Amino acid sequence: MPEHFSVSEVASGVYACVAGASQAAVGNAAIVDTGARTIVVDSFMTTVGAAELRSMAEQLTGRSVFMLVNTHWHGDHTYGNQVFADVSIVATESTSRAISSDAPSDLEAYGAELDAAIASFEAMLKSDVESERILAERRLRRLALLREDVGIFQMTLPDVLIDSELVVEDQRRVEILTYGGGHTDSDVFVWVPDVRAVIAGDLGFHGKHPRMVDAHPSAWADILRRILELGPSTVIPGHGEPSDEGQLELLIPYFEEAQGLLADYSGEWANVPLPQGTEEWDWDHHYSQGLEAIASRGATY
Ligand SMILES: [Zn+2]
Repeated sequence: MPEHFSVSEVASGVYACVAGASQAAVGNAAIVDTGARTIVVDSFMTTVGAAELRSMAEQLTGRSVFMLVNTHWHGDHTYGNQVFADVSIVATESTSRAISSDAPSDLEAYGAELDAAIASFEAMLKSDVESERILAERRLRRLALLREDVGIFQMTLPDVLIDSELVVEDQRRVEILTYGGGHTDSDVFVWVPDVRAVIAGDLGFHGKHPRMVDAHPSAWADILRRILELGPSTVIPGHGEPSDEGQLELLIPYFEEAQGLLADYSGEWANVPLPQGTEEWDWDHHYSQGLEAIASRGATY
C-alpha cells in the first residue's frame, strides 16, 4: 500500500486514490487505464504525494502517464502538478487562470506565512483541549510538507484547455467533461461510460459536508442532476470514500436547502441548523462557513 493514500480498483481499470492521514494528500485522486494509455485525475496537495501517485499509476497500468486532469483549481487537487510537468495537463481556462492567480508570487513571503502558521499551531499543541491538539498535529504535518515544497516550487499550469469536453478514445472511451461551475467557478469531472464510473472531483463529497466557500449551490445541484442523468453506478468523490450514485443524490437536497437559506435566513450563520440527515457527516463547520462566505460575496447562485 502507498504511504500517502489508499488505492482500490472501483471498476475495471478505474482506481480510486483516497487521501490518507499523512496530509501529503488531502483531496482524492484517481487513475484510469484506457487500455493503451494512463490518465491521472488530480495531483494531490504536495509533490511527495504526487510522486507516489504517479509511480502507483505506472505500476498499476504498466504504462507511463500521458495525461493529468485538474478537476478544479483548489490546491489540494493541483499543488502536485509539477510532478506531471512533462505530460499534458487538462483543465478549463477558468481553472488554469485560478491556479495561476492562487500561486505564490513571492516565495519568500509565502514561506514566511507558512512559518507563522507553523508557529501558531505549535502553540496550539499545548492546548488543554484534546481536539485542538489533534487538529494542531494534523495541520503541522500538512504545513511541514507544504513548507518543503516552497524551495522546489515550479509553476505548472494546464496546457490543454477545454470548454465542454475532451474525449480520449482507446480500448475504451473516457470523457473529460465540464457542465460549468458548482463547487468552484468551473469544475471538470471524468466519465468512463463502459463501467458507468464518475470521477467527480469536488463535485462529490461523501460523508463530509462539502466545502462551499467558492461554491454556487444552485448550479452545483443542477450539475449533479445532469451527472446522474448519465446513469453512473460508481462514484469517486473528491473527499471521502468511493461508493455508488447515492452519494451524489444526497447532495442535491443539501444544496437546495443551502440555496433557500441564502435567500431568506436572517440569523447568525454560525447558528444555522445543519440539513437533516447529515448529523454523522464530518466537517460540519463547512456548512455555516460556506454559507457565510457565499452570502458575503452577495451572490446566491
Ligand atoms: Zn475543492
